[in-house]
Amino acid sequence: MSGWTYVDGRFVPKEEASVSVYDHGFLYGDGVFEGIRVYGGRVFKLDEHVRRLYESAKSILLEIPIPPEEMKRLILEAVRRNGLQDAYVRPIVTRGRGDLGIDPRKCGRPTVVVIVDQIQLYPERAYREGLRMITATHRKSPSDSLNPRIKSLNYLNQILARLEANLAGADEALMLNHEGYVCECSADNVFVVRSGEVWTPPAHLGILRGVTRDAVLEIARDLGIPAFERTFTLHDVYTADEVFLTGTGAEIGPVVWVDGRVIGSGKPGPLTLRLLQAYRELTAREGTPVYEDSLAAPGGSG
Ligand code: PMP
Repeated sequence: MSGWTYVDGRFVPKEEASVSVYDHGFLYGDGVFEGIRVYGGRVFKLDEHVRRLYESAKSILLEIPIPPEEMKRLILEAVRRNGLQDAYVRPIVTRGRGDLGIDPRKCGRPTVVVIVDQIQLYPERAYREGLRMITATHRKSPSDSLNPRIKSLNYLNQILARLEANLAGADEALMLNHEGYVCECSADNVFVVRSGEVWTPPAHLGILRGVTRDAVLEIARDLGIPAFERTFTLHDVYTADEVFLTGTGAEIGPVVWVDGRVIGSGKPGPLTLRLLQAYRELTAREGTPVYEDSLAAPGGSG
């Protein structure tokens, strides 16, 4: 594991990258983050991810100590320093170092970290044969408790759901809101395909509005496939022609089994595969170039 991580104003060797045990990100999950992919030397949807990072921060009254444009430059520089063409970037901003009380006023300056690494969320088999998913008994935390629109460091709600999937030997967990409407998976958005239409739950139900989700809605419309936000229940999942999930790490993952029920043909569906191909073409074509930036540092040695 070699490479460089940005921590509070400087790049340090990855193995030396650390934050204080008094950091409220560590103590209380008080902070926000993003997950961003780099494909072929281009950062995919950089503006969208940075916008969501600043929106999440604003929602929890966390003032990121650098402006968004500088954050973008920092992300590009972090990838450059690691000399990678394909990567996963994780910017994190926490409330910073405080004391053992939760009061955010105790914290001085927010901590800014940018990690560059690789990610594979599900095994290759899952893409070839499809994912198996269970419905978690843990519901999404309601928007008036901890709004899922905020991509915060507090992921216990999703981790509890993921633990249920692990215990059941499944790949993923589907989460409902307190009214029983389908929301999203533990760390991905969910879609159903029914009679040639593509549906995904609306953001106001209490989900993270995924960057991949929005890209897939746009791709589907470009391909002439009716695609829209719609409130639906498990009945619509169980009787769907196809089910798939979306996320920066997962891209588009076909789901072939939910709660012991086989979805559609039991194989990754044709529409899902068409969207996956179009998505891969988009990620290969679009993005902010890492190595052509005017502020490019020579080398990438760090
Ligand atoms: N929902 C949750 C809870 C997530 O953590 C994520 C990101 N891993 C997503 C959905 C997908 O969002 P995106 O497409 O922006 O990665």
